[in-house]
Amino acid sequence: MTAVDNLKRLRNEIPEHVKIVAISKTHTEQEILEVYNAGLRCFGENRAQELINKQPLLPNDMEWHFVGHLQTNKVKYIAPYISVIQSIDSLRLLNEVNKQAQKHNRVIDCLLQFFIAREETKYGLDLQEAHVLLNSDAYKSMKNIKIRGVMGMATYTDNTDRVRNEFKELKQIFDSLKNDFFSHNADFSEISMGMSGDYKIAIEEGSTIVRIGTAIFGERNGR
Ligand SMILES: *Cc1c(COP(=O)(O)O)cnc(C)c1O
Repeated sequence: MTAVDNLKRLRNEIPEHVKIVAISKTHTEQEILEVYNAGLRCFGENRAQELINKQPLLPNDMEWHFVGHLQTNKVKYIAPYISVIQSIDSLRLLNEVNKQAQKHNRVIDCLLQFFIAREETKYGLDLQEAHVLLNSDAYKSMKNIKIRGVMGMATYTDNTDRVRNEFKELKQIFDSLKNDFFSHNADFSEISMGMSGDYKIAIEEGSTIVRIGTAIFGERNGR
């Protein structure tokens, strides 16, 4: 199966209202262009340097999502074009995104990343940290970012009950933030959850954005 076949199969299977972001990390510009030429416009990377290298070599109308841990000193390089930063995990990072977006006269869409997995290696906020962030004066004064929703990664495991429970937890976090902070804000509407191995469960639990790498491009190339 080629990447284009994989995308067609996924597009048939995944409901229309769920956005597919093709996670293109480790894949070449040629591989990415094949998927682009099949009609997909949303792509995601998880390392800033890789995105910085690839973006200038690819079409301008691609919608780039950043999905990995982002160091504040890299924000300035992606601020001119990034569509969505899905991995906001601190007020400090959000502040830097706001500052760099302002320089380019842009408003950058952001998702708050939550730690839902039972693994030590994954980044993200907990609900209490999100409350502190959203209640801060610094956040309230930001004009060049827009928080559009939440993102999370489930534990990498065959235990589908556990994965489902983690997605349920993220949906509950979304609902409670919607209620407490965004009840009059229709822009706060996105739940980014689900990858190649677990997107079906994620969609059943309310995902609006799936981030799919391997199930489109095949196995990742070595870094
Ligand atoms: C790599 C990655 C994905 C895609 O993973 P696959 O299992 O290949 O679909 C999704 N989200 C994040 C944050 C990633 O780093």
